[in-house]
Amino acid sequence: MSETESALSALKNVLDPVTGKHVLRMDMIRDLRVENGNIHLTVQIHDPMSSFAMTVEDACREVLLPLVSSPSDIRISVDNDMIGLGDELTVDGDTQSDGFSGARNIIAVASGKGGVGKSTVSVNLAVALARQGYSVGLVDTDIYGPSIPVMFGVENAKPKVAENRRIVPLERYGVKLLSMGFLVDPEKAVVWRGPMVTSAIKQFLSDTEWGELDFLILDLPPGTGDIQLTIVQTVPLNGAVVVSTPQRVALADARKGVAMFEQVHVPVLGLVENMAWFEPPDMPGRRYHIFGEGGARALAEELNVPLLGELPIDEGVRRNCDDGTPAATFEGTTAATAFDALAQRVTEETWRRNATRPATQKVEILRR
Ligand code: ADP
Repeated sequence: MSETESALSALKNVLDPVTGKHVLRMDMIRDLRVENGNIHLTVQIHDPMSSFAMTVEDACREVLLPLVSSPSDIRISVDNDMIGLGDELTVDGDTQSDGFSGARNIIAVASGKGGVGKSTVSVNLAVALARQGYSVGLVDTDIYGPSIPVMFGVENAKPKVAENRRIVPLERYGVKLLSMGFLVDPEKAVVWRGPMVTSAIKQFLSDTEWGELDFLILDLPPGTGDIQLTIVQTVPLNGAVVVSTPQRVALADARKGVAMFEQVHVPVLGLVENMAWFEPPDMPGRRYHIFGEGGARALAEELNVPLLGELPIDEGVRRNCDDGTPAATFEGTTAATAFDALAQRVTEETWRRNATRPATQKVEILRR
């Protein structure tokens, strides 16, 4: 375990006695650096009046003490600035906190290529996170081929509009759900151009009653073209998950996906290898690597990004997608366990990313 990981794991023991949530989950740690045996960090206080705010610095110090040789090796600053990434947007100089204000972490799920299981991963990741107690929203931004309504069995549903004219997302399996497919007929959308799509997505994200969300997952359209690039520049993303199969052509496109996020300074939380192998149910232990073996692991190593999970080809996963009940809802199955593990890795990487980024950062979003 690296020194930073040891510090992160110690900080998970600092809990708010009222909510029972740890400081990483509450997004209170920033600027965490471990250098030459010294630990630096900033505690960001969101609620200065809470009793926890009075004790949190000492509590952090206490859990970190076993990791250093002297108490003076721990340097903690306290910051009361409440504005952070994902908390507030500035649009053309105007503050616009509605809509996004409640999403602590916005995560894009992307793939360089269609058909690799990006939507399947988005849906099951969202359900697994919700099962782990997080409040989760999921947005299908694929205006040309939305598949999330089918995967949740709500293809004919229409979200309601509240009295204040804001969209009320649907809710299934603990996930708040919106799809461009609810609002726009995909057949009509085919003629839409990129700027129309992105402005619709922007509006649709900020005009929705999300409430307080721990995670807002954006299922991006497949590919790394203009539309994807504009979406990832428009929305203040905390990180991205890139899905690929082990096949060479898919990996080449996954590499482009990682490059796209790096270009716009969105951290890649990691790669997911989907359809990694097939294990026939009547031959347990026998694995067939239909699309190749270990390709995503090798790519992750080469690009120095984590491999968040390897998911087998599973007939149940496919069937559950088609019949509108995500595989992650079936507790105890191999697929649900794998999606649970993936969700855990995604939260760990998100916390690490949030804790190590600079203390306060306001995102400037400029209208194009
Ligand atoms: P994408 O969003 O990348 O276009 P989808 O998530 O729509 O891909 O998946 C494409 C097809 O593959 C769907 O029919 C889905 O049910 C199936 N699929 C995805 N992942 C798996 C898996 N691990 N096992 C079996 N089928 C899968």
